[in-house]
Amino acid sequence: MKVRVLLVTACLCTVVFGDAAVRAQALDPIRYTLRFPAPHTHYVDVEASIPTAGRAEVEVYMATWTPGSYLIREYERNVEAVTASAGTRALSVVKSTKNRWKITTGGAPGVTLRYKVYSREMTVRNNWVESAFAMLNGAPTFITIVERAARPHDVRVELPAAWKRVETALEPVSGSPNTFRAADFDTLVDSPIIIGNPLVRDFTVDGKKHSIVFEGDTALVDADKTVGDLQKIVIAAKNVMGPLQYPHYHFFTMVTESGGGLEHKNSFLGMGTRFLTRTDRAYKGWLGLIAHEYFHNWNVKRLRPVELGPFDYENENYVKMLWVAEGFTDYYADVLPKRAGLESRDEFLDGISNQIEQVQTIPGRLVTPVNMASFDTWIKQYRPDENTANMSVNYYPKGAVIAFLLDAKIRKATNGARSLDTGMQWAMQRYSGDKGYTPDQFYAVMSEAAGTDLKGWFAKTAESADELDYTEALDYYGLRFRPVDMRNARPYIGGGTRSDAGRLVITSVRRGTPGIDAGLNVDDEIIAIDDVRVRADGLAARLEQYKAGDKISVLVARRDRLMKIDVTLGPEPGRAWRLEPLPTATAEQTAHLNALMDGK
Ligand SMILES: [Zn+2]
Repeated sequence: MKVRVLLVTACLCTVVFGDAAVRAQALDPIRYTLRFPAPHTHYVDVEASIPTAGRAEVEVYMATWTPGSYLIREYERNVEAVTASAGTRALSVVKSTKNRWKITTGGAPGVTLRYKVYSREMTVRNNWVESAFAMLNGAPTFITIVERAARPHDVRVELPAAWKRVETALEPVSGSPNTFRAADFDTLVDSPIIIGNPLVRDFTVDGKKHSIVFEGDTALVDADKTVGDLQKIVIAAKNVMGPLQYPHYHFFTMVTESGGGLEHKNSFLGMGTRFLTRTDRAYKGWLGLIAHEYFHNWNVKRLRPVELGPFDYENENYVKMLWVAEGFTDYYADVLPKRAGLESRDEFLDGISNQIEQVQTIPGRLVTPVNMASFDTWIKQYRPDENTANMSVNYYPKGAVIAFLLDAKIRKATNGARSLDTGMQWAMQRYSGDKGYTPDQFYAVMSEAAGTDLKGWFAKTAESADELDYTEALDYYGLRFRPVDMRNARPYIGGGTRSDAGRLVITSVRRGTPGIDAGLNVDDEIIAIDDVRVRADGLAARLEQYKAGDKISVLVARRDRLMKIDVTLGPEPGRAWRLEPLPTATAEQTAHLNALMDGK
């Protein structure tokens, strides 16, 4: 995006840009210098040289959230010691809202803003500074001018003696060591910066450089092993979405015993364990994360719901299509490793089965349509509580399952001539860049790929809370849900527990389970079953003494008041949503499944 529009009524912009893209060429950059005088205290010192164009007052702000992670995070709470000056003259800086400051310039053509940012949150959207390295994201680091212009933002890093290099997808400024340029604030926010002594490997696809960067405790990471595999994922993704759209790409992984990933246009920032290349399970989990975040460089960063740009960095940006932006991306995170030859058929089916199981075992799937789960992401997805599973659905797995069903639908309707890949390519050709798509436009392009009107099908799957219908997809691919023998099912109360200082405390009670029907509550402490004490780690072993259908007396303490509650145990739901090939699958059905797995 070239132009940023801030949807604020209090905007003090005095400059009106008739053609912002043209005028942007003439705008002076904001120049930041980052220093780490005492990195072990977790601070980055920021100095920003801000052009004023002679205005008497300049208002500046910090973003309150990061695109891709849809929750107001209030990054400004980590900012301290804000001062401004013009030359040797101190200027007045007054905080005007929670995340804005007004600088009285005295007519100076440029002012210098200085502040410190406390950086000790090891998540993909925040900052971390310690003696060994720094991980910085744009939104929680850079204060910028409140304006509607695409102004360049330059970043120069002063390295502590022990740190050797800066890794970022920002463009280096030639002739200036450790200096980088973002064409606009969006690009700055979209470009994590890793500083320290990272482990780096490069490879090339289609003449474009790809850098794999590990920072943190990298001693056990086998970086060489990752090169060929990431190359295969890049090629598999390119075969779905078309030509590579970026000048170069960085795969950042913080080896910090943390998790998560966040997509950017020319990079991704993820986190993992020091053992990520040591066990098959950890490595495939990491490859799945790579596949997901890398696929995002098309789906959401370049092909996006119309609401996701230009961003309003200070308020919620409501959007109903995250089930496509995230869910379809998650579907391809299952598909790409198989097509890249990094997974077996059974591992692929296991991945799809996990997605289906995550949807079908959540009571909230029958309460909230997935498009509304997307809309409410700002208040629900990133703030789960004990009742979330009862009232909402996660748009990641539900979107992935819809993609799986849609793929089968398009393939079947076109006799295998087209697929979801076709729909995604056409959507990319029509709506990428600044355009974005509306729900109706997305439904229309997928209908066109299928050669049949799917608007009604999308209304049922994505805009209602109706149960999904798997019949068509299973029949097309020759699959079935593995039959579950419930005769020996374990006895089950339902819900979750945790050990709280040795006390066994209920953390969630799921709708439709024996526990909620009997009246067990969240925060009840389970003390005994049938008058025999249950230790915090002993619930599962105790329940094994019973069978489904047995009635037990549970002694609980509710706000310290003891009470007995009778619960009739039910059978633990089996893993009924695991896919397997039909024993009687026809050659045609098997060919359909192979075409999906091979990307035909
Ligand atoms: Zn994602």
